Amino acid sequence: MPFWKGRTFVGRTDLKRRLRKGLFLLDGAMGTQLMTLGVEPGKCSESLNLESPGLVLRIHKAYLQAGSDAVLTNTFGGNGFALARHGLASRIGDINTTGAQLARKAAGRAKYVLGDIGPTGDFLEPLGHLKPDQLNTAFVDQAKALLAGGVDGFIIETMTAVEEITIAIKAVKAAGSGLPVLASMSFDKRGDDFRTMMGVDVKTAVSALVSSGADAVGFNCGTTTLDEYVDLAKRYVAAAKSANPDVMVFAEPNAGKPELLDGKTVYKVTPDEFASAAQKIYDAGVTIIGGCCGTGPGHIEALARKLRA
Ligand SMILES: [Zn+2]
Repeated sequence: MPFWKGRTFVGRTDLKRRLRKGLFLLDGAMGTQLMTLGVEPGKCSESLNLESPGLVLRIHKAYLQAGSDAVLTNTFGGNGFALARHGLASRIGDINTTGAQLARKAAGRAKYVLGDIGPTGDFLEPLGHLKPDQLNTAFVDQAKALLAGGVDGFIIETMTAVEEITIAIKAVKAAGSGLPVLASMSFDKRGDDFRTMMGVDVKTAVSALVSSGADAVGFNCGTTTLDEYVDLAKRYVAAAKSANPDVMVFAEPNAGKPELLDGKTVYKVTPDEFASAAQKIYDAGVTIIGGCCGTGPGHIEALARKLRA
C-alpha cells in the first residue's frame, strides 16, 4: 500500500490542526507557469498529468523548494464539465487521481497536498444549462478521484457564482472523508466595493461559504491591484469574523493586475512587491497565503523570506 493511503502520518500533523497553528504558505500559479515552460494557451493543462507528468512534478518541486507548505494539484479544470470541452470527460478519474499522486510525490510525507477544484465554466439554469444535481455529481466525482490519489484537503477556487460554490463545498465535504475544504471566490473592484463577475459582494460570499461548511474562506485571482487586495483582505477578515470567529481566511493574489502586452496577458509585480503586499494581507489577519496567476517560485520564495522572518 502506498504510504499516502494512510490517515496518520509521521512527519506532518493533520491539516486542519496545522492550519490552526498560523501562517501556512500555499504555492503560486500552475497555469501561467506551464505556459512559461512552453505549454500552449488553450491546451488542457490537466491532461499533462498523464502526458507530461515530469513537467507538472517539476513545478510542484520548485514551489516546495521555494518554501510552500502545500502544493495544489494540477486539476483546476478537472471537473467533468471542464474536461468535456477537451473531449476528456471519460478521463476524470485518472486525470485527478494522477494529479494528486504527482503532487504527493513532490510533497512526500512532510508537506501537504490540496486537491484543486475550479468552476465548471457553465451556470445553473436558467442562466446556464446546469441542474443542481449535475453540479453536485461533477464535484463529488472529482473529489473522490482526488481523494484516491492521496490529498490532505481540498481547495475550491476562482468561483464567481455563489450557487455553484455552495454546491461544490457541500459535495466535496460529503465526498471528502472529513478532510478540510478551503473555498475561494474571485473579486474585482467595482467603485467602492468588491464584487465577483456574477455580482456577489464580500459579505454575501463569506456568509455563504461559512454556512456551507468551508473550513477556510478566501479570495483569489480577479483583476485587482496589490493595494486593492490588501483592502479586500481587511474586508474579508471582518466579514469572516462576524460570520464565524473560528473560520480561517486565505488569499491567493495574482502578481498584480493583469495587463495586455502585444496580445498577451502579463503580470508585472515583482517577488519583493508581492511579498510586501502579502505582509499587509497577513497583518490584516489572513493566515493562509499563496499566489494565483502570474506568480512563480520567485514570488513564493520572497513571500516565505518575508513572512517567516
Ligand atoms: Zn488566477
